Amino acid sequence: MADCIFCKIANKEIPATVVYEDEQVLAFKDLEPQAPVHVLVIPKKHVASIAELKAEDKELAAHILVDVIPQIAREQKIDQSGFRVVANTGDEGGQTVKHLHFHLLGGRSMQWPPG
Ligand code: AMP
Ligand code: ZN
Repeated sequence: MADCIFCKIANKEIPATVVYEDEQVLAFKDLEPQAPVHVLVIPKKHVASIAELKAEDKELAAHILVDVIPQIAREQKIDQSGFRVVANTGDEGGQTVKHLHFHLLGGRSMQWPPG
């Protein structure tokens, strides 16, 4: 999608520190990390948010949650200590980039409730 920063990262038009890639999914380090491990996991195809996922995206969404995020957590060595997965959705959800992304955060104790 034109003018989508995460589409541009997926298309390698702008650089990112990639930690995982397959045909459908890319994961890269957040530019402004909020924890020692802060990775963004995105589908390469443009989906605006969780609210825009379609039935045809079920396999992709499951792949991200079942395969990709746990694998990255293991590789980043936060699978045993624990981690947080966040998908800010829409304006009140705090979503600033309108391309679906899962924040994978770890390496420190998390607080609850979120702000
Ligand atoms: P959200 O507020 O949930 O939409 O999260 C967007 C995230 O994208 C923020 O944590 C930003 O720091 C991050 N971000 C924005 N631009 C880039 C970029 N070019 N490379 C890596 N992370 C980015
Ligand atoms: Zn996009």
